[in-house]
Amino acid sequence: MAILVQKFGGTSLATDDARRHVLRHIVREREAGYSVVVVVSAMGRRGDPYATDTLLALPDSENLPARERDLIASCGEVIAAVVLCGLLCNEGVPAVVLTGGQAGIRTDGRFGAARITRIETEPVLRRLDEGTVVIVTGFQGMSPGGDTTTLGRGGSDTTAAALGAALRAQRVDIYTDVDGILTADPRLVAEARPLKAVSYAEISNLARQGAKVVHPRAVEVAAQAGIPLRIRSTFTDDEGTLVTGPGMFAAGEVPDRPIVGIAHTAGVTQLTVAYGASEPGDMQVRVFGTMARHGISIDFINVTPSGCVYTVFDADADRAIGLLSELGCAYSAIRNCAKVSVVGGGMNGVPGIMAAIVEALTDEGIPILQSADSNASIWVLVRQADMADAVRALHARFGLDRPAAAAHEASQLAQEES
Ligand code: ADP
Ligand code: MG
Repeated sequence: MAILVQKFGGTSLATDDARRHVLRHIVREREAGYSVVVVVSAMGRRGDPYATDTLLALPDSENLPARERDLIASCGEVIAAVVLCGLLCNEGVPAVVLTGGQAGIRTDGRFGAARITRIETEPVLRRLDEGTVVIVTGFQGMSPGGDTTTLGRGGSDTTAAALGAALRAQRVDIYTDVDGILTADPRLVAEARPLKAVSYAEISNLARQGAKVVHPRAVEVAAQAGIPLRIRSTFTDDEGTLVTGPGMFAAGEVPDRPIVGIAHTAGVTQLTVAYGASEPGDMQVRVFGTMARHGISIDFINVTPSGCVYTVFDADADRAIGLLSELGCAYSAIRNCAKVSVVGGGMNGVPGIMAAIVEALTDEGIPILQSADSNASIWVLVRQADMADAVRALHARFGLDRPAAAAHEASQLAQEES
């Protein structure tokens, strides 16, 4: 029988009303003939009683070992899974809860940021064969030593994708509190529209550049296994956004779409280092070597013979600046910056996209502190105070607030005008 994996996020499980919707989606797919595996996150958001952050704050100890920290971090999903199991049982639907370890999810031993190494499918397949809905606690697995490990932020998405891949599921449905993958974060852009279909590469770029609607690792896993993902709302029956590889557009649809969306990441500091005339090679090796040795993650890197520019998270800025001072190089820093990304698998080779970006931001009086591009994204660094305006300006400029065909024309116009 075809297997379907359904993942429900925190807000989808937070209230009685939301859980009724969850129940409805599970029962519908079961009645449609699927063997259903349900992956759950902890109920609610930061501040809610059974949310992961709340549980993590319970042990009043700075010295709690990482192993025990993961143990309590994993409890939110257990609570959510058992609550959902109770609701299914009340409806007469046979259901069972498996923790990550019980579901055969094996990870390495890195507490707090474990990686799934293997999934033994027998425990899940056996229950599915019995006609049981299998509820798996997301965000966790079991280390080689038999300890509970957690997968880090967005880990339940990864659990769902990895189970989908291991079980050869027909599809993985990620249910959340928005109508799918939108052309921008609806919290910044009221006009953002849900996309009907995107490629793995496009959503992977959007997700890595800050669109937190689905975790990039989950997209990577699904792409490698070739399993389609659907991002959709718990609160409606709309099918949301389908994420697949090539061939995702039906005949007659318009695959010619340079830009799919705008993503943003706030909270970065730009560091500019000048080497002066002496020994640029030596200094650049020392700058990047020092950052690496101190575990400071760097991004948005440009190296020239006279210096280099890169960004670090605001949280690492003081440390990075201290290290540059110790190296004795001339540097300057701009804190509270944001990376705004224009993403689209169809922009490669299309002339005028950069010109349209520059013009849209110049019209708004927004200075571009730095820019870079790849085949499917162009990133600009702006001050955080300008971030929301920059996202809105680019969203409008590429016609993303209009239906697909109109957006395509707008985006062509944007390029032609510039
Ligand atoms: P869940 O708890 O269901 O995993 P998340 O909070 O992780 O939900 O992800 C959903 C949120 O992602 C939305 O509420 C929305 O604010 C945010 N988001 C950011 N960028 C986008 C985008 N491009 N499309 C859709 N949602 C986005
Ligand atoms: Mg999420």
